[in-house]
Amino acid sequence: MYNPAPMTEPFRFEVQATDGAARAGRFHTPHGVIETPVFAPVGTQATVKALTPAQLDDLGASLVLANTYHLYLRPGPEIVAEAGGLHSFMGWPGPILTDSGGFQVFSLADRRQVDDDGVTFRSHLDGSEHRFTPERAIAIQEQLGADIIMAFDECAAPDDRLYNEQAMMRTHAWAERCLAAKTKDAQALFGIVQGGIFPDLRRQSADFISALGTPGLAIGGLSVGEAKVDMYAMLDVLEPRLPPDRPRYLMGVGAIDDLVEAVRRGIDIFDCVLPTRLARNDAAMTRLGRMNLRNATYARDQQPIEADCDCYTCRHFSRAYLRHLIVAGEMLSATLLSIHNLTTLITLAADLRQAVLDGRLEAMVTELRRSYAKHRPVEA
Ligand SMILES: [Zn+2]
Repeated sequence: MYNPAPMTEPFRFEVQATDGAARAGRFHTPHGVIETPVFAPVGTQATVKALTPAQLDDLGASLVLANTYHLYLRPGPEIVAEAGGLHSFMGWPGPILTDSGGFQVFSLADRRQVDDDGVTFRSHLDGSEHRFTPERAIAIQEQLGADIIMAFDECAAPDDRLYNEQAMMRTHAWAERCLAAKTKDAQALFGIVQGGIFPDLRRQSADFISALGTPGLAIGGLSVGEAKVDMYAMLDVLEPRLPPDRPRYLMGVGAIDDLVEAVRRGIDIFDCVLPTRLARNDAAMTRLGRMNLRNATYARDQQPIEADCDCYTCRHFSRAYLRHLIVAGEMLSATLLSIHNLTTLITLAADLRQAVLDGRLEAMVTELRRSYAKHRPVEA
């Protein structure tokens, strides 16, 4: 029976409305209220690449993510702590979330060694040896000072049954150690549900992590190479098992169709490098599909990326100008495309939220699917 401790101030989550499994909510943090569903831009190195915090604020970002692994290696958590934490170090006064470093460390493949106590790994920067344990991951995240911090977890290949069983058990034991190690009330620690693409493991993990009573839950180990249908099936399995009164964060998901399908399945928080990474690779994300603006067809195209997009880029610049910047190798193209792509995701989440509040989510989803399917092959 799920009967967790009430969420302690300064954290509070209100579900304002539901529509099917989807929810519209407000998550209160020490640095402001996050209206959900929400898409969080990723600032890997305590900067969302190519954008100033003022530009992020202007395009409607509320929550920003930073990566513990990268900031631990460079500049080091002591330097961030000396600056007063990430908010003052990176000049972002709003809510910040840090991951635990687990995902990055496990992505190092042959550069890391895991045991029941933690992980020893070699830096991708200089090959130096380091060790993360649950306690260390929490201590580093306390030095970084984000509002939302993550339990240290082990992320396995999604279709490897035996490895997923082991990784899930370790993730559970490590979540308990993270909770015991945490010392700061001004940070909300989220537990992470693992279990690959195996429904029984996902249920078991959801029950275990829910029982810890953390102020939010994250779903890890999805969007890591499995088929979309498998990801959606796992969200269907998890939805009825997750505590209804806690925010749910689907880690690393930011494709437009995935965001829509996950909101329908009760997810509240998303993050992904996709919008800014695509921007640096000359691609615009739209609700009709992707556009590669390097393409010669845009050389004389005086329209904005999207006529009905209200972002700074679409209000001021044409496809022809953006293509010119790209071909000329001007760095402003990364800034302008990042503004547009993040606006697309943040506005989509906000529009889905409004549809939940208005009780018309399925009508909006039907319309989105119809136009997305029709236009998807805009460009490969
Ligand atoms: Zn735009």
